[in-house]
Amino acid sequence: MFWADKIALDIKEKRKGPQWVDDMKTPSGKIHVGALRGVILHDLIYKALLEAGVESKSTYIINDYDPMDDLPSYLPPEYEKYMGMPFFKVPAPDGSNQTYAQYYAHDFISVFNKLGAEPEIFWDSKLYPRGIMDEAIRIALDSAEKIQDIYQEVSGSKKRQLGWLPFQPICPKCGKIGSTRAFSWDGEIVEFICEPEMVKWAKGCGYLGRVSPFGGTGKLPWKVEWPAHWMALGITVEGAGKDHSSAGGSRDIANSLCREVFKIEPAYNIPYEWFLVGGAKMSSSKGTGVSAEEVAKILPPEVLRFLLTRFNYKQTINFDPAGETIPKLFDEYDRAASAYFEKTDEDLARAFELSQIKDKPREYFRIRFSQVANWVQMPNVDPEKEAEAFKGSALIDLDHKDLQERIKYVKIWLENYAPEEAKFTVHKTLPLTIGELNSAQKELLAKIAHELGRDWQPEELQNAIYNWGKDLNLTSSESFQAIYLTLLAKKHGPKASWLILSLDKNFVKDRFIEANQP
Ligand SMILES: [Zn+2]
Repeated sequence: MFWADKIALDIKEKRKGPQWVDDMKTPSGKIHVGALRGVILHDLIYKALLEAGVESKSTYIINDYDPMDDLPSYLPPEYEKYMGMPFFKVPAPDGSNQTYAQYYAHDFISVFNKLGAEPEIFWDSKLYPRGIMDEAIRIALDSAEKIQDIYQEVSGSKKRQLGWLPFQPICPKCGKIGSTRAFSWDGEIVEFICEPEMVKWAKGCGYLGRVSPFGGTGKLPWKVEWPAHWMALGITVEGAGKDHSSAGGSRDIANSLCREVFKIEPAYNIPYEWFLVGGAKMSSSKGTGVSAEEVAKILPPEVLRFLLTRFNYKQTINFDPAGETIPKLFDEYDRAASAYFEKTDEDLARAFELSQIKDKPREYFRIRFSQVANWVQMPNVDPEKEAEAFKGSALIDLDHKDLQERIKYVKIWLENYAPEEAKFTVHKTLPLTIGELNSAQKELLAKIAHELGRDWQPEELQNAIYNWGKDLNLTSSESFQAIYLTLLAKKHGPKASWLILSLDKNFVKDRFIEANQP
């Protein structure tokens, strides 16, 4: 059974009744592509639950009450003054009237919406002011010592701090939330100080204040906030990346807080592996990593979704767009489509089905990515016409949109990520590389030039070249390299006969004769 279906069934068995699936993110800047794994994983489980007949809901919480604790290098230095402020109070870098959090979260949301994940979006900057977190805040403040004990027991590290309270007010004087420390709680009011030296990344203003912790005046520390969201909203399923799921980590703390403080059952966990995107071309020079938006530009949505669907959550996905990775991914996607329509490999078929964006899977014109890459690079070749010729074997009507879309992504790949071997151009004049030809190879070229006038089919010519080469004691790679070195100035290329036949016959003939001149 497909992994997401297995999880859905396990949830159905262990947790009775309707389910609420959630994921979350702090909008601290351009959102890294790795965060897409969580989004798609939760979307898959949500959809698998629905298909398993479980009434379910799916949400995504934007943690915009979190403080800005790092200054991304792409921001102007003026942003230094916002360090320590909650993201919903920091202005957007484009000068619009959005908040910083909205600006970056919306980019990310639009990427995952395109990938077919449409959870309801919740913003902490609405949950806190509307009082939705109030009950959890009260319980947490009343249980401050217990919470510290749990931190200590579970993670085994932190020593108890006298007077520590699980609440961070927003300083009414300087607007910062990262620098405040609450130290007393009487059931109605917390007293706090805005500390100049508490954290390295933000300097508090020294303000000493009193405030009711309810209705959005501050937030819970995130380790407490996580299970508090589950309690406040009724979230029942929330997986966590492996960084949170290690023994004694924040997930274990959240589970203990659920049982011992909030008195709820912890959300069902799916501890999932990393989604890594590598390659020199992808990692930004500014060291910010690869944003989700960037990756969404190099793959069609269903193929990117497929990349995140196909692998079990326990497997690391390591995607390096350089080299043959992208053509191989397209091949695998096409193979999954065949599995679906021909009912062969059940898991692969299901991965294909769950990778569709909105509609049910539909048949499409499957033409290999590498094939299209060859057509696109050939002079005088119209991929549409070439694809027509494939119609018979594909058994599917050529859909021009399918082909055009593949061409679009082929071009992106060729321009940015294709290895040298996959790229070629027909040289307009005799290239210097013919110096590498031996006499038998030259003889083969002369033979081809001589025979070219006949009406050749590609397969037939390919065999003929192979046999002529054999007669001259050439290996097949020596034979075909002779052609590539003379036309493309390199040792590799698309199928040789087909390359020759796509060009003007006189041009090829003249070139092969010219290669034979001393
Ligand atoms: Zn302050």
